[in-house]
Amino acid sequence: MKNDQLLTRRRAMLAGAGAAVGAAATAGVLAVGADPERTRPAAPVAGPPARRAHRPSAYRLQPLTGYGPPRTAPGRPRVRSAPLLRVSGRGRTMVLTFDDGPDPDYTPEILDTLAEYAVRAMFFVVGEMAEDSPDLLARMVDEGHVVGNHTWSHPLLTRLRRARIRTEMERTCDIVEEACGERPLWFRAPYGAWNRAAFQLGAELGMESLAWTVDTLDWTTPGSATIVERVEDGAAPGVVVLSHDAGGDRSQSVRALRSYLPELLDAGYHITVPSRRNV
Ligand SMILES: [Zn+2]
Repeated sequence: MKNDQLLTRRRAMLAGAGAAVGAAATAGVLAVGADPERTRPAAPVAGPPARRAHRPSAYRLQPLTGYGPPRTAPGRPRVRSAPLLRVSGRGRTMVLTFDDGPDPDYTPEILDTLAEYAVRAMFFVVGEMAEDSPDLLARMVDEGHVVGNHTWSHPLLTRLRRARIRTEMERTCDIVEEACGERPLWFRAPYGAWNRAAFQLGAELGMESLAWTVDTLDWTTPGSATIVERVEDGAAPGVVVLSHDAGGDRSQSVRALRSYLPELLDAGYHITVPSRRNV
């Protein structure tokens, strides 16, 4: 009985959630209109602690291609001064994003749940994790999901020199291409901390910059019920939700998805992935 009441309350909330956007989203929306000259790297807003740098690799010493066309995705995006925070689209469209993976302990279950409801999502993968589980990247693409670039080792880019930022991005583009057969079209800076170099290099490498509207803060392990609440309170057309499928114990994130996904669908949301044509 109690569960039924809870469900009814959530559904009612979702149905009227058109204007409900979290505080993080409001702050982010303001950032989009910021004057490029005054744009500073966004303060780190989310994410688990940075990982140690991955072991050095000599893979860049030899060119990967000869004199062919540049290895970037078609349709180079413009250089932004702030990342996209939401997606445009008709109706009650929402995007679910999962960062920092893949992780064999959690990503497969997330993929199972998405498959159960025939829903597509975005995975912003970390190169050093992808290197360990290329099969999971292949599965993501096979099942219609979008694999985005979340750097190689999840550093705070605003503290790095340009050359190192490039390496962080390029190595991950390469490993995504190796595992998925195509280079990523989307980039997300660790901690949501972009700087001018990150925008420029991302565009050079053919990637659009996508942040998020609603942060579940799932990495703080607040309990799956709280994660569910944050997603449902923030649900609105165009909202991009941030969760994590790696970087720690993500069983709460896995459980939460099983609960909020069917409820979002029941509330009439179309959960999808963004198209580069619409941005
Ligand atoms: Zn991250």
